[in-house]
Amino acid sequence: MSTCQLEPCIELPLSEEKLKESVDKAKDWVLMHGISMRSKKNFNKDKVQLLPVTLLPSSFPEKSFLTVKNVQTILNELIHKVAHDKEFLTSSLKSTIQADPFTAKLFHIYETVYEKGFNQSISLGLLRSDYLLHDNDCKIKQVEINTVATSFAALATVTTEYHKYMLAELGYRKKACKQNIDYCYIYKIPENNALIGFCKGLIFAWELYNNSEAVILFIVEDVTYNISDQRFHEFQIRQLCNKIKIIRKSLTSLVSEGVKLGPNKELIVSNLVVAVVYYRSGYELEAYPTEKEWDMRLLIECSRAIKCPSVQYHLAGTKKVQQSLAQPSVLKKFLKDDAFVAKVQEIFTGLYTLDFNDDGEKAVEMGINEPYKFVLKPQREGGGNNIYNESIRTWLSSMKESQERTAWILMDRIYPPLQKNYIIRAAEESPLEEDINLSDVITELGIYGVIVGDSNDIMLNNQVGHILRTKLSSEDEGGIVAGIGALDSPYLIS
Ligand code: ADP
Ligand code: MG
Repeated sequence: MSTCQLEPCIELPLSEEKLKESVDKAKDWVLMHGISMRSKKNFNKDKVQLLPVTLLPSSFPEKSFLTVKNVQTILNELIHKVAHDKEFLTSSLKSTIQADPFTAKLFHIYETVYEKGFNQSISLGLLRSDYLLHDNDCKIKQVEINTVATSFAALATVTTEYHKYMLAELGYRKKACKQNIDYCYIYKIPENNALIGFCKGLIFAWELYNNSEAVILFIVEDVTYNISDQRFHEFQIRQLCNKIKIIRKSLTSLVSEGVKLGPNKELIVSNLVVAVVYYRSGYELEAYPTEKEWDMRLLIECSRAIKCPSVQYHLAGTKKVQQSLAQPSVLKKFLKDDAFVAKVQEIFTGLYTLDFNDDGEKAVEMGINEPYKFVLKPQREGGGNNIYNESIRTWLSSMKESQERTAWILMDRIYPPLQKNYIIRAAEESPLEEDINLSDVITELGIYGVIVGDSNDIMLNNQVGHILRTKLSSEDEGGIVAGIGALDSPYLIS
């Protein structure tokens, strides 16, 4: 029997009339405040359409929320230290780079820069650690940590305001308030400053570069669908520090335009010196259609610009490194304080190597015998890559004897508790049916962190905000840009 019951924040279902009225309002609020993206079906630069959102915020235990909020700065520091430990990165990724060409390319760039010597010792990390609640005991467990192209800090911030508005519209303004007073300023929907937090991180790095003429370069896809989230960062930076110019280029366009390094290894793009390179792309195969894009990544890595992420941060965020960190006593190596080790260990779930050793053999057997207890994961980002259920058995059986298996890890499957909510989507994009029904959903919490430092020093280390993403319980994965997951906000319950 589950101890993790999550009741909706208001009485459901809504009457048909109330539902229609609030969905209409919600759609307009969402569109007019920029919770939107470009259409994949009918791409048109003059138009955006609404991203999926939940009608209501979803219930989330306050204790778990605070647990992971409070652990974020420790995780930031952990990633920072891992990124600066060549021996650990090398031994963790050794078997993976033999089987996974993408990680091998990144690792090769890392080794090349390491051997030549870094021209920039400072890295900027804009991170997001993702979590699911585990249905059995309602404990919160880490799904993964993202170190590259971490998205939705902007739209999550807007979504917080959207859900406060919706609850008030539905007549629950007082209920949504933490104190029972008329003027409410502490809501059960917690404050969220993820966008400002990320932008302050970018500005902090820009200031460290110490050249008021230099720009921030966003590396973007050739075609960007998730435009609003990216642009909000640009607009916010201008608002916080109006000296900073931002330019946007894909790796492919940088290749064709020609990029050079200046006499002091400055990265020069269109005659502008780049202070900070912020990757919103580059985690996916499609960003590197030819060797030239890889050469460009290396050139940028060799420059004096501060990278977000630097290649070592990118590697520190791989699933394989996550699995290495979950091995007994590894955390002790990086975190000196035992209390910190215990806090991080507490949020980890079982992660298993598929290397060719005793542990790997055991993991293969476990996955084949009880596939429903696990998720099989490759070294990919961006959703839609994992293997679930019976397919785990098929995959593991077929690659059992081949080197390919070392590109993957096995992870305990987390079964989150269900709750009820309505998901609103743009009808045109929806891969699912159009009607807005009360559905069983599950939520995934993300906590945003910002860290800046070099191998000796940490100059900035903050937890800056959160995101809740919600999907139908029938979906294994729920990408928001893919139209399956929806932006949500936590409604904290005790
Ligand atoms: P990606 O880098 O592609 O985002 P994730 O590790 O975040 O990879 O996995 C994608 C999605 O798969 C998650 O958002 C979550 O919904 C689901 N998922 C991942 N790991 C687990 C797990 N251990 N248990 C249950 N669901 C998981
Ligand atoms: Mg993920």
